[in-house]
Amino acid sequence: MKACLEPPIQPLAATQEAVDTCSQRKRAAKLADVKKFAPKFLSRFQRAYSGRSLRCAVDSFCAECMGYEVSEIAHCTAPACPLYSYRPRGGGKVRGKRANQ
Ligand code: SF4
Repeated sequence: MKACLEPPIQPLAATQEAVDTCSQRKRAAKLADVKKFAPKFLSRFQRAYSGRSLRCAVDSFCAECMGYEVSEIAHCTAPACPLYSYRPRGGGKVRGKRANQ
């Protein structure tokens, strides 16, 4: 196999700024959706986006995956998913909190 000898392309500052702006817009849109359709998950998404809680990131992803029906996460049937071993369990509990809080 031939090694790539070209240096990696560095993103232009303006390009990186555009990516950051796009990411912020997408996150704001996601938070607006969560606030509207599943407000009980809003704080978890916010903590996940802040980068302060990997636990909240996993909880949020699994909750979204299951259509915000937290009780279904314990019954997940996708053991090939990389998050399977880390998904919140306990039939409706997400990391010690009741799902309906
Ligand atoms: S572990 Fe299950 S519920 Fe969580 S993201 Fe993966 S497939 Fe979805």
